[in-house]
Amino acid sequence: MSEEIKNPIREGGISVETEHIFPIIKKWLYSDKDIFLREIVSNACDAVTKLRRLASLGQYEADEAPYRITVSLDKEAGTITVSDNGIGMTEEELDRYLCQIALSGALDFIKKYEGEDAANNGIIGHFGLGFYSSFMVSDSVTVETKSYTDAPAVRWICGENGSYTLAASEKTTRGTDVVMHIAEGEEEYLNAERLKGILTQYCAFMPVEIYFEGEEEAPADKPEEESAEESAPRPINDTAPLWMKNPSDCTEEEYLDFYRKVFHDYREPLFHIHINADYPLNFKGILFFPKITNEYESLEGQVKLYYNQVFVADNIKEVIPEFLLMLRGVVDCPELPLNVSRSYLQNSGYVSKMSQHIVKKVADKLNSMFNTERESYEGLWPDLKIFVEYGCLREKKFYDRVKGSLLYPLTDGRTVTLDEYLEAAKETHENTVYYATDKATQAQYLAMLEEQGMAVAYLDKGLDNQFMSMVEQDRGVKFLRVDAGVAEALKGDGENYEDEALSALFVKVSGKEKLTVRFETLKDTSLPAILTVSEEQRRFGEMMKLYGMNESMPAPEGELVLNAGCDMIRRLGQKLQSEPDAAEMAAKQIYMLALLAQRRLEADELRAFLAGCYQTMDRII
Ligand code: ADP
Repeated sequence: MSEEIKNPIREGGISVETEHIFPIIKKWLYSDKDIFLREIVSNACDAVTKLRRLASLGQYEADEAPYRITVSLDKEAGTITVSDNGIGMTEEELDRYLCQIALSGALDFIKKYEGEDAANNGIIGHFGLGFYSSFMVSDSVTVETKSYTDAPAVRWICGENGSYTLAASEKTTRGTDVVMHIAEGEEEYLNAERLKGILTQYCAFMPVEIYFEGEEEAPADKPEEESAEESAPRPINDTAPLWMKNPSDCTEEEYLDFYRKVFHDYREPLFHIHINADYPLNFKGILFFPKITNEYESLEGQVKLYYNQVFVADNIKEVIPEFLLMLRGVVDCPELPLNVSRSYLQNSGYVSKMSQHIVKKVADKLNSMFNTERESYEGLWPDLKIFVEYGCLREKKFYDRVKGSLLYPLTDGRTVTLDEYLEAAKETHENTVYYATDKATQAQYLAMLEEQGMAVAYLDKGLDNQFMSMVEQDRGVKFLRVDAGVAEALKGDGENYEDEALSALFVKVSGKEKLTVRFETLKDTSLPAILTVSEEQRRFGEMMKLYGMNESMPAPEGELVLNAGCDMIRRLGQKLQSEPDAAEMAAKQIYMLALLAQRRLEADELRAFLAGCYQTMDRII
């Protein structure tokens, strides 16, 4: 499809090695061909930026015409053209930048990073190969360019094997037109919607206005009263994205609009953090905490990485700390050497500093909300909890920064910090946090503690076990589930009491040979027996389940505490002598009731329990 040029100034081949480069470009960038448009448009953007700079330095007198980039699609001709009115190139520059430097840059790059899957990693571009990515989709590319100086315009046509023709051009306006003749098999790009989609993804915030001229149907009946301004074409991009502004100049409304526009989420985010770092790190960004309404909703966020307003990639784990990837936001890093491989990023001091800075900013924000807007912070906590706790588990530094602002909801509806909890617990259960995971099944235990005025944390979400272990180690405290033992505060006075025959009877009726039975005097004299399960054993079992091991592992046996202070238990001891059958029946029901207060019964347990109840009633009535 390449065009014939009459009277060429010169003809040539880009270099001996070019024939090797073109196939590599095609193969390499295969997984993300869309990027060609970003590269060509961002070159156009750079060309305008350069001219703007010259104008601001007084080295060029700007005319009235606004700077702009036009991306146009000509289906018939099979071309996509990117035009700019930027700095342009002279013949000599074109030769140097497009024929020599770009290609030698590309060769260096290929040699250096051979074998690394740069395209799949999503980091390409900005290594001097940008222009040539147009060959991923084109079989020839024409460049018509006129420098801002008086130099004559030139036309350059390059075929897919790297041979080019350079000639005079009739172009009269300043700037560059890059005409890509779309190759066979790549026709998908000759589609207005497709191109607009790519432009919105990659170019939505580039700093020069970009207009798209496609072959769209004109709207059938335009409202007559539409003003000229309304009908004038609009750029597809926002040249001054919110993150580039000073945070103090941005309104809440603007943040919300930005969030909705970029992430298409119509729920309000919980809050945002605007990072505007100049020194020693230079990067900007806005991070939003999305509201996750559904427990099963993916926690995968979306942090978009930009390089001087040019979109680079989503969720680059090397730049954004992993636990923050559930956030949504944009980060613009003009200093990030994006032209390098991921392994470079992983070891880059700059990247790790930036990531640390983000962690610090997030922690600062949490602390400041805790300190200055405690009430609304408490309101947000149920949504923040999982993210903050995950962050703490993943990154010790983050935990250290926010540990004073971590909250614990209580079963009575209040929300406290660990320090507040421990302070109140000093008298009754020093350095111990009692917690419940299910208010209904643990109601009996909860009631016992609450009666003693003891606060109980309500930890009913996934990460709690691991999180508790971490806090236990760090703070030297102990987390005990309400059914993990008999709290000191629940114990009553009374001399030691033992009844071995009764203990043996309970082991028998429980059907669990290894059940430990123990006597203890409890303050609540109405309660004959409770079952407790050691915290360690239970957590271990839960962990095994979490990792899919030992699914069938039975629940730990636990310990049956018989209340020596309960008259019924004492009488049961006597009954065992006089009426062993009745005693056995009663013991069985007492055991089942203790079990029922601790967990849900299995089907056969429930059947046995109900049968026992009917038998008992039969005796009474
Ligand atoms: P990079 O943009 O990374 O330098 P490219 O291969 O994309 O690498 O471009 C090589 C050079 O060609 C650019 O640095 C620039 O000098 C020149 N160039 C490319 N496109 C344009 C354009 N639209 N206007 C002016 N110069 C351009």
